[in-house]
Amino acid sequence: MHFFSKSIASILLVLLGFFSVKSDEILLKPSYVLDVVTGETLSGIKILVDGGKIKAIGENISHDASVKTIDLTGLTLMPGLIDAHSHVLLHPYNEVSWTDQVLRESWAERTLRAGNHLRATLEAGFTSLRDLGSEGAGYMDVGIRDALNKGVIQGPRLIVAGRAIVSTGSYGPKGFDLSHHINLGAEPVDGADLVRVVRDQIGKGADIIKVYADYRWGPNGEAKPTFTLDELKTIVRIANDSGRPAVAHAASDEAMRRAILAGVQSIEHGDGGSIETFKLMAEKGVIFCPTVAAGDAISRYRGWDGSKENEPARIAAKRISMQRAIEVGVEICNGSDVGVFTHGDNVRELELLNAYGLSNLETIKAATLTAAKLMNIDKLGQLEHDYLADIIAVDGNPLDDLSVLRRVKFVMKDGKVFKKP
Ligand SMILES: [Zn+2]
Repeated sequence: MHFFSKSIASILLVLLGFFSVKSDEILLKPSYVLDVVTGETLSGIKILVDGGKIKAIGENISHDASVKTIDLTGLTLMPGLIDAHSHVLLHPYNEVSWTDQVLRESWAERTLRAGNHLRATLEAGFTSLRDLGSEGAGYMDVGIRDALNKGVIQGPRLIVAGRAIVSTGSYGPKGFDLSHHINLGAEPVDGADLVRVVRDQIGKGADIIKVYADYRWGPNGEAKPTFTLDELKTIVRIANDSGRPAVAHAASDEAMRRAILAGVQSIEHGDGGSIETFKLMAEKGVIFCPTVAAGDAISRYRGWDGSKENEPARIAAKRISMQRAIEVGVEICNGSDVGVFTHGDNVRELELLNAYGLSNLETIKAATLTAAKLMNIDKLGQLEHDYLADIIAVDGNPLDDLSVLRRVKFVMKDGKVFKKP
């Protein structure tokens, strides 16, 4: 009997050993951990990752003796960065104009390019993207998202808007003889048909509904509202019924006001917002994605040297809208409109948010806590127990110097290591 129980004990030990060897746990040992909630930089903290999640974080955490350990001495761990406004199916307009991308590039080419874009983005430490429209490439974004989730390609976690919604007559490409059928950059629909189209986009795999609440179709090419308030309310209602948010492109004050009243989750661009509209936005808890980097890039493509003296009107308007949003306490998120400029250079938006008035910590919060809200995924954007293990390490403290975000040395997404020092 004694011998028998001893054997059982040893078999159990062997089994335990077997299971511990099989453990997928990873222990990260950095010099510092940045708490993006409190803004504290802590030392002596370790993070244990298992099954795609943070299993434990702290000074003394229990783990298996054989756990795989990654030594990140000298580096600071922080949550993976999030860009809440991307277009993975576009590439910089100084390479190929938007119109030519929409009309001349095959969906195959655009999808293959997107694969490259996603790899570069993850490499740069951006572990999540909210992709706001395929810009004429149908539902390729849905397919890309699904391929990513199956591990066919590597890239940030992705939520997608599919084709996006525009009013009849407003969106491009434009300027062609009317006898041609032109592939539009989004799906035109109005009035009662909105119910069917929102449901159709949901059925085809959209995670969010993106609506263009205005577009540059005024008599002089200025941004003017596209949808009525009632139409916007319909879009939001149908999207929300399905558990999805609607988000609005809006540059003019009136379109912003309508979209806010209709109940969108975020306003994209917001260049012409009045102080009253930003106040309404703060009241309703609507998040602002100023997309500073897009306007900056386009202005430079058109010859702007970046100097304050030669600042184009759109840049001046962006500065004013940012100041207003900050003044009345609108929550600002990091959303760059990358695609207009180079994928993987997403950190440009953080640098500009910083230059336009957010502190280093506020900028980092915009790209983690706030952007995570717009991903509509629970437990994302913080280094906390049970949160998704999207973790990066940078060489230095971003609270002192944001440029360290350009030196991302380690990238983990979903508990899987993508880049190591
Ligand atoms: Zn965009």
